[in-house]
Order: sequence, then structure tokens, then C-alpha cells
Amino acid sequence: MAASTVTDPVLLRSRLDSLRAEHAALKQRGLQLNIARGKPSEEQLALSDAILSLPGPGDWKTEAGEDVRNYGGDPQGVPELRALMSPILDLPASQIVAGGNSSLAMMHDCLVWALLKGVPGSTEPWSRVEKPAFICPAPGYEKHHTMCVEYGIELLPVAVTPTGPDMDAVEALAADPRVKGIWCVPTYANPTGETYSDETARRLAAMKTGAPDFRLFWDDAYLVHHLSGNGVTRTNIVALCAAAGHPDRAFVFASTSKITLASAGVGFFASSPANVAWYLARDGKRGVGPDKLNQLRHVRFLKDADGLRDHMEKQRALLAPKFAAVLDGLSRRLAGTGVASWSNPLGGYFISIEALPGTARRAVELAQEAGVTLTVAGSTWPHGKDPQDSNIRIAPSYAPLADVKAAADIIGLSILLAAAETLLTNNARNKVAE
Ligand code: PLP
Repeated sequence: MAASTVTDPVLLRSRLDSLRAEHAALKQRGLQLNIARGKPSEEQLALSDAILSLPGPGDWKTEAGEDVRNYGGDPQGVPELRALMSPILDLPASQIVAGGNSSLAMMHDCLVWALLKGVPGSTEPWSRVEKPAFICPAPGYEKHHTMCVEYGIELLPVAVTPTGPDMDAVEALAADPRVKGIWCVPTYANPTGETYSDETARRLAAMKTGAPDFRLFWDDAYLVHHLSGNGVTRTNIVALCAAAGHPDRAFVFASTSKITLASAGVGFFASSPANVAWYLARDGKRGVGPDKLNQLRHVRFLKDADGLRDHMEKQRALLAPKFAAVLDGLSRRLAGTGVASWSNPLGGYFISIEALPGTARRAVELAQEAGVTLTVAGSTWPHGKDPQDSNIRIAPSYAPLADVKAAADIIGLSILLAAAETLLTNNARNKVAE
């Protein structure tokens, strides 16, 4: 987050009328801009158009001679796709499972199987534990939260820092045996954008946990989604856990949802040999195996790890200007006002704003009135309740660049207006109290 400067209420109050007038004029324009959902744009999806005609008639055999059109084959997924992902995930193909179209569904399966059966190292299924709990860095990804809520797992929020979750808080919470895991989005986190430092990853791998079967749910959804040319180097959390004497601690998840097609990508589970065997044993009873045709299509389209990286360069060329437009718009409206700070992510899909406490909901409402739909305020926090009412998530990927530019300005205006209203109200209250 950019540092915020001291708020100047006098300045803001004096500007309230002009801000209101600007807002009213925007309302008249009847704009309809939507930057609520972290979805790829049509241009991004079009980068993968060729995949729609792959593998093509007559091309249905893997290198091992398996027929991807039929039942059977390797239950772990098409070996050449796992080999393609091996340098990306920095793990041998034998420790990677290629699954269906959603890594989130794989996280869900792991959580439910852990509750019903336990994981390697469990003495009993997690559901037998009184009040099982998960640590969740907040703000975070809403679907991680709702998954836990759905199955009665208590969520324990910890603060996010520029190097990952507040590790002192994480270590203190993890000492409790009922705490079974932590949600981690280690690269370009959703929504806060930070990448975990090596030190954070090392502490997560090495920390003492009350539960012997504690798991890092390591959701590396944005591992190759760089916005800057330099890209961050990925931490091999599985190796770190093994080196720290906890070889089964990390469940790694990734997917091609935001590499190729969001609804027709391939999800991956990667972990220790024991966890992969555990996963496959459960998965084999859940269905007849993944969509191998889609997996082969991905191999034909991406070719190899370098092909995947080249493809992500094209994604970056489309995404980076939209992020720059948001940052520019926010800066022009808000820099120096002291009423907001915001992330400047080097990758991923989101920009996270911390507005003046108590104003995020109102700012989102004002933006909506002026024609900009934003992610519902509070939704980045467990149970949709942001204790400070300060976090606003911006997802610039889907809308056209011109819309993103216009929206950024309106968001800045709305944050400023909400802050000015609140400061004015507080001031009036203080006067009455005097
Ligand atoms: N994990 C994170 C952190 C995400 O932000 C998203 C999508 O926004 C997902 C997972 C969804 O992944 P998938 O499409 O592979 O289910």
C-alpha cells in the first residue's frame, strides 16, 4: 500500500459541494461500467482461440498411447501436461495431479476429504475435532471463506503485510490443535497483491503447529501472472516443508483458468508423494477421471513451459495498461488527500484500496450511483464483514481500457466524497458533544 498522508478535513469539507456536484453530473450520464469481477476480458480469451480446434480430428493419443477420448488412462492426468507444468510448479511431474477445470473444486475436495477421512498424519477426521478452524489472511479471497463457512470451519483472520500474513499472529494461532490449516495466496495475493517473502514461506514451513496434520492450502492461482517484466521467483513450498521436517504440510493448487480459458482450463494439485497418493485414492472414488481431451488440448496449445510463459507475456500486454490506468486515476484523485492508500501489485488480478475506516461501503454505493459496479464492500473479509469498513477491491481485467480509465476516476471521486461526508458528520457530532 502507498503511504497515506495526514487527512485535511478542512480541505475536504470545502470541497464537499464541488464533489457532490461532480457526482450528480456523473449520475446524469447513466454510465454502466463494471469492474467487480476478476474475469479475463474477451481480448484475453481470444488469445486462446486456437485451443478451440485442438487437439483436432485424429489427434487423440498421448505419448504413452492412451486414448484421451475414452475411460481409463493415467488417473493422475495426461503425463505430458504434468511434465509441462513441472518447471512452472518446480516439482516433478510425479508429484503433480492434473484435474478438472477448477482448482477451487480441488481445494473443496481436499477440505471435504480432510473433514470426512483425515489427511496423512491425522489421528482422526477433521470433523471429529471440536470447532475446527482455519487461519485466513484478510482481506482475502471470498470463496476460501465461504468454503470454510459451508462446512462449519471457523475462520481466524490475520493481518496482511507486504511480505505475506502477519507471521507472529499466524504462529500464535497455529499452536492451537483445533487450527487445521491456513489459506495462502502466495503470489500476487487476491486482493492485496503482495507476494510472500522467502522468510514468510520458511516460517510457514517450519512453524510448530498444535495439529500434527496442519495443512497450508497454498493457492498459487497467480503464479505466472506477472504485470512487470521481471516477475517474482516462485517459492518451492513443498521443498521448504520437507526441509523443515514437515514433508506433508503443503497442498499446492494452481490452474490455467487465467492462462487459457477461465471456464475450461485445467486445475492442478501438487504436493508430497504421500499427499498425492492420498488425493488419488479419494479422487478415484469420486469419478472416472478428469477431462483428458481438455488436458491434451492444453499440451498442443501451450507446447511447453516456455510456450506458457510466452502466452502470459501476451496476457500481460493486455492487462498492464488497465492496472496502470487504475493507479493513475486513483493517484490523480486521491494522492496527498490522506483518505486512502492502495496496492501497486506486480502481478495478479486485483488492486486493493484501504479507504478511510467507515467509508468503504458508502464509497461503493456512491460509485454504483455514478455507474460503476464494484465488488461488494466487505466481501474480502470472512462472513462479508470488514471490521473497519475500509477495504475496496478493484478488478480491472474484464472491462475495456476506456471503461477502466473512466471507472478509476469515478472510484477516486466516490472515495473522496464518502470520506468528506464522514468527516463532516463526525465534525458535526463532535460539535454537539462539546
Ligand atoms: N484462487 C484464487 C485466489 C482466485 O482468485 C481464483 C479466481 O478468481 C481461483 C482460485 C479460481 O481458480 P479456478 O478457476 O482454478 O477454480
